[in-house]
Amino acid sequence: SAATAFAGPLVVATDTNFPPFEFKDPTTGDHTGFDVELWDAIAKEMGLEYSLQPMDFNGIIPGLQSGQLDVGIAGMTIKPERAKVVDFSDPYYNAGLLVLVKSDNTDINGIEDLNGRVVSTKTGTTSEDYVKAHAQAKEVKLFPNNDAMFMELLTGGADAVVFDSPVIADFMNKAGQGQVKVVGPLYQGQSYGIAFPKGSTELVQKVNAALAELRENGSYRELYLKWFHTEP
Ligand code: GLN
Repeated sequence: SAATAFAGPLVVATDTNFPPFEFKDPTTGDHTGFDVELWDAIAKEMGLEYSLQPMDFNGIIPGLQSGQLDVGIAGMTIKPERAKVVDFSDPYYNAGLLVLVKSDNTDINGIEDLNGRVVSTKTGTTSEDYVKAHAQAKEVKLFPNNDAMFMELLTGGADAVVFDSPVIADFMNKAGQGQVKVVGPLYQGQSYGIAFPKGSTELVQKVNAALAELRENGSYRELYLKWFHTEP
């Protein structure tokens, strides 16, 4: 059975703070969010034990490669370079990238206006790659987590943040409310997948089957509505 095929509780890495996918619940102190609850539903479906390990995003792929981690669910974009070093599940969420500036900024209206500007984003992400490939920024400031990345914009240390659309939307409704605005369209559509050490063929197949079952039985939709307040 699935429960006996994989020995011991799996170590499941997630980002420290990537709301609403994963973040620390201020009241309970526990990590929660769409990724956390989706993984929990998958694990229950498979009869799997696991322990959740929040960590800086940039450490997750190396941890999977070295075998210290068994699973990574962290809003991780499926992309060819990563698929060479880790295995991915089927896609479970579609996102894109957005440019965020202070509300009173009138000079930056999209990615093309980031030439010669200071841009803040997160180390090792698709946003880092995208900004470096599509803008001649004066400086790309890289931070290990969302808090520092957004703070740099709020305190004037950066002209813009480039980051994942659902996380920008969450920030605009919370800490950044009234202080920031999105400029330009949604850039670089991308899908998130759950990552595993290379060669986790059996585990990936079972996770995909569980994911399909959760889509089929309405659980996926329920979680999506709960965390994104919109239909999948
Ligand atoms: N989706 C982005 C990536 O995979 C950012 C993920 C994150 O910061 N947790 O690079």
